[in-house]
Amino acid sequence: MEPTTITSTRLKQITDNFKKGLESSIGIYLFKGLRIQVSKYKASGSERFARLYHKRRENGLCVICGAKVKEKNPRTKKLYRLCSDHRDKIDRKS
Ligand SMILES: [Zn+2]
Repeated sequence: MEPTTITSTRLKQITDNFKKGLESSIGIYLFKGLRIQVSKYKASGSERFARLYHKRRENGLCVICGAKVKEKNPRTKKLYRLCSDHRDKIDRKS
């Protein structure tokens, strides 16, 4: 997973959430060339996957590769959960 470059304002928010023990502080960040990783201790693989899935879904990113999803499902008017590449590979396989 690639780190997100953050500003000092964002770092402040993250450390505030971190101090409160909030899971919203979880992530990998890059600040002035330093890498900060906040993760849950002994989280199982499936827990990590579920968190990543929800985070990507919230941000309108492909749940597999994290690419920005641009097209909406005309039926539900919501963004697809997969990018066009993965939609081709997965959803249209059947
Ligand atoms: Zn994808």
